Amino acid sequence: MKEILYKSTRSDGAPISASKAILKGLADDGGLFVPTEFPKFDRSFDEFAKESYQETAYDVLKLLLSDYSEEELKDCIAKAYDDKFDNDEIAPMVEADGAYYLELFHGRTIAFKDMALSILPYLMITAAKKNNDDKEIVILTATSGDTGKAALAGFADVPGTRIVVFYPKDGVSSIQKRQMITQKGDNTCVIGIEGNFDDAQTGVKKIFTDKDLAADLASNGYQFSSANSINIGRLVPQIVYYVYAYSKLVNENRIKAGDKINFVVPTGNFGNILSAYYAKQMGLPIDKLVCASNSNKVLYDFFRTGKYDRNREFILTSSPSMDILVSSNLERLIYHIAGDSASKDSSYMKDLVTSGKYSITEEMKDKLGDFSEGYASEDDTASAIRSLYDETGYVIDPHTAVARHVYKEYVEETGDKTPTVIVSTASPFKFETSVLKAIGLPTDADDLSLADELSKAANVAVPDAILSLKGADIRHKMICGKDEMKDEVLKFLGID
Ligand SMILES: *Cc1c(COP(=O)(O)O)cnc(C)c1O
Repeated sequence: MKEILYKSTRSDGAPISASKAILKGLADDGGLFVPTEFPKFDRSFDEFAKESYQETAYDVLKLLLSDYSEEELKDCIAKAYDDKFDNDEIAPMVEADGAYYLELFHGRTIAFKDMALSILPYLMITAAKKNNDDKEIVILTATSGDTGKAALAGFADVPGTRIVVFYPKDGVSSIQKRQMITQKGDNTCVIGIEGNFDDAQTGVKKIFTDKDLAADLASNGYQFSSANSINIGRLVPQIVYYVYAYSKLVNENRIKAGDKINFVVPTGNFGNILSAYYAKQMGLPIDKLVCASNSNKVLYDFFRTGKYDRNREFILTSSPSMDILVSSNLERLIYHIAGDSASKDSSYMKDLVTSGKYSITEEMKDKLGDFSEGYASEDDTASAIRSLYDETGYVIDPHTAVARHVYKEYVEETGDKTPTVIVSTASPFKFETSVLKAIGLPTDADDLSLADELSKAANVAVPDAILSLKGADIRHKMICGKDEMKDEVLKFLGID
């Protein structure tokens, strides 16, 4: 099989293997790793249609993680996609009101981050073994609520790793916070910061690119890596469910192999939708990728105007995992539409740091034809939950509701009748207060009673992820300023 190598979006140094890129997380120059070329799927979609999620995973991962052996990949896949998912299909699909909802929330933390973070720890320790690297891996993660818990659940008590998670102390839902601060595992550390998600993400990137710190760590037997979607080891496993969803539609005779479909993706850091774009580059018949934003609509404005501008108010919404003004993974798309140009990409990223904005050229803008865009206000989001519930009884979370609203508007505007999959990124139980409010039920009770209410309304059992919070000890109480993040990391590692 062809070896696929990875390089930085910001310079043209020698490309490295997939396993090395996964270990490093972020390139030394602050850029993100991208594949130097896109391999093509080597199965037909009629063949894919017969495969299980795990088999599909292997047939996708083997192409992009080409320096892992068959045995290594199959072992990682088997350990990741097992009965910690509460549905045998791993990513089941539900038809409602003329669209297919791809439910990516059947993992341990009931949000789509589990899809990649269930496998990333195994890919990472396998990578360390392959590269004869015996330093302890320290995962540093900034979270807008869902990545943190999914990464904690994935890395807790994994030998050879430690994990530190920073979350905006007032920027996550009550269930999200409770999930994180009750996390077990001696190798885990969870810290609230006085700031928003962008502050957390900027702080983590700063720690990553601090060369003195890296040297200090190495001499103490540690190395940093990232579980954020800047790690290519997050993006590659996310390609799998796009292929799986497509194949499932073929398998159920809803489309013929080769027919095009659309995906609508509720978007924040641009990782999920970028994986769909990569799937398309590899040959998945996708027509439109519809990027759905909440009121923090930087990406909507970018796709409309070609100008990215983060200089605006940061709005806390009912879809907190999309409350982001600096979408890290957009850098990868910028690099690709600039003709795989590291020099152009770095100059845009420099502008973003210095002035908070940049404008792409007309030629680059012409390459965005794969995408369409929309956004939902808070009212739009609540109505999208309510109308779907009233019409069908199916209950969706606010992130998925943003996508549903944008989808309805898109169809109204374009008349596009292409079969469409709406990517459902979280269980409604994770955001139960907003969901109950939207469907007109009372919300003045504690988290766990609200879960019972929602269970009755939706006719769905309360997920284990929520039940297990009952009576769980609070283990992480630390709060720090956004300038104290590095000190807290050193303290946790016992380095002065
Ligand atoms: C992280 C997240 C998103 C946004 O995904 P990106 O890859 O950051 O664009 C959307 N919905 C939920 C529930 C999430 O956890």
